[in-house]
Formats: sequence, C-alpha cells, structure tokens
Amino acid sequence: MSGRRANRRRSPLVPILLVLVALALVIWGIVWLAGDVTGHVEPPVVDDPVVDDPVPPDDEIKDDEEEPEVPEEPYIDENGMLQFSTVGRYVQADSYQGGAAPPWNLLLVNDWNPLPAGYDDDIEFVSVGSNNDVFDSRAADALMQMVEAGSAYDIACVSGYRSADTQDYLYWRKVQQYRDQGYSEYDAQLTGGTVVKRPGYSEHNCGLAMDLGGSGNYSLNTDFEETEAFAWLIEHCADYGFILRFPEGKEDITGVIYEPWHYRYVGTEAAKYIMENDLCLEEYLELMKK
Ligand SMILES: [Zn+2]
Repeated sequence: MSGRRANRRRSPLVPILLVLVALALVIWGIVWLAGDVTGHVEPPVVDDPVVDDPVPPDDEIKDDEEEPEVPEEPYIDENGMLQFSTVGRYVQADSYQGGAAPPWNLLLVNDWNPLPAGYDDDIEFVSVGSNNDVFDSRAADALMQMVEAGSAYDIACVSGYRSADTQDYLYWRKVQQYRDQGYSEYDAQLTGGTVVKRPGYSEHNCGLAMDLGGSGNYSLNTDFEETEAFAWLIEHCADYGFILRFPEGKEDITGVIYEPWHYRYVGTEAAKYIMENDLCLEEYLELMKK
C-alpha cells in the first residue's frame, strides 16, 4: 500500500523534474549559443594595411608634378601674355605624320601653333610688288606670277611679311587701346588678339602670306569679296599654290574672321585639294595625319 502511495506521491515529481532539466538544458543552450556568437567575432578585413610611413615615395610625388594640368580656357602665362588652350586643337608639332617636321610650304601658324623660335633667321626674303613688301624667296615667284596673271583686275600686294618684333609692337599697341577703355588685362588681350595676333602667331610672320587687293579695293575689308579681282583669285589662286586662308564659315577652326583678301602659299598640290574641297588649312592637315 505504502509503495503504491509512495508511487502516487512520487509520480507528479518526475515530469516536473524532467521539465526543469529540459528548461535548464534550453537555457544553457541559449547561453552557450550566445557566447558562441559573441565569442567568435571575425577581425575586420583590412584591404590596405596601414603602413608606418603614409607619405608616398619621392618619385611618386614627382610623377604627379610632371603631368601639368591642361588648361581649357585662355590664360595669362608667366610672361604676361595670353595663351590659348590647345585642348581639342590640331597641334602640328605633335601631329604631322607621326611627329615628322612638316614640309616648309605646309607650316601651320595660328593661335595654337606658334612659329618655331628663330624661324625667320633661316628664311631668305625677297622684295615683291611695289609696296616694299618681302616674301619667302621659295614662294615669291609663284606670288608674282599670280599677281601678273590677274593684272586685268589690278591685283596687287598690300601687306606681306612682318617680323615678330613688328608684330609684338602692333599687338601690345592694340591691347593698350582696350586697357585704356577699361578692359581687364585678360579681356584686353583676349579682345585685342582677335584683331592683331600675338607675335609669332600671325601667318604674316612666316613670309608665306600676302594680303591682296584689286578692282580698286586695297583697304582689306570684306567688300573685297564683291570684286571681280576676288572672283578671279578664288578661281585661279590654287594654280599658283595659294589658298584663301580664312574662308567664311571656318572661323571656329582657323581662329580668324573671314578675310577675302588674305592668301597663303601652300604649294599647288595642297592648294588645289583645299580649294576644290572648300577646306581650310587646319582641316587639310588633319586629313594628312591619317
Ligand atoms: Zn593678312
């Protein structure tokens, strides 16, 4: 009886103990898992381990400094003269048939391509026309033949070669006029430079360009395009190796306004191609580099 009673008394304890043990196991398990997670923190991954000396080596600094920033707007250089950005421009010294020196007759002179230093020291100039003008001797005969052939229209030389020194004087005189009007130095040079080129950047400094007049117009204005002399020149200048250097509609490429009076010697082969295809010299040279 007592056994049965004892059994009866003990029997509700067993499930309670089992539940307590199970609870203890669960709690222990939770604590153990939590400990596992917090106890196994992965160290952070460091891609670039911090080095003792964060200053880059000298040669790295030098590399950075050797790459000059290419300006995209005109700027005043260390000599106080306006320079034009060559970004997106044809630069003959780097471009002509893989960096080869261009033949003398295809020399490019514009806002982005100055005459090589000392260029005209090696050029032989001869007198042309009746206006005390001089011209590169290699192209002077062609010029005079053209003027002679157009004599029915009284074609004549008005302005040819001028030295870089003369150009220097003309440039700063023009800039001063704008300074006197209250322009900033930058704007005075930017605006003045559209009228008178900087020394070494005018085609008249190389001795291969001539301003021409005819049919009674010798004042170098756009009315010249109305003359018979102009019509004759457009028709025949390439036969003598000359081109209309600053055509209408090419101002953004040449950097110069339409000048119906300004002719440039490039040789007959280039001249015929340029005039027949309505190109400017810059466009022709772009084609030549391919
Ligand atoms: Zn000119």
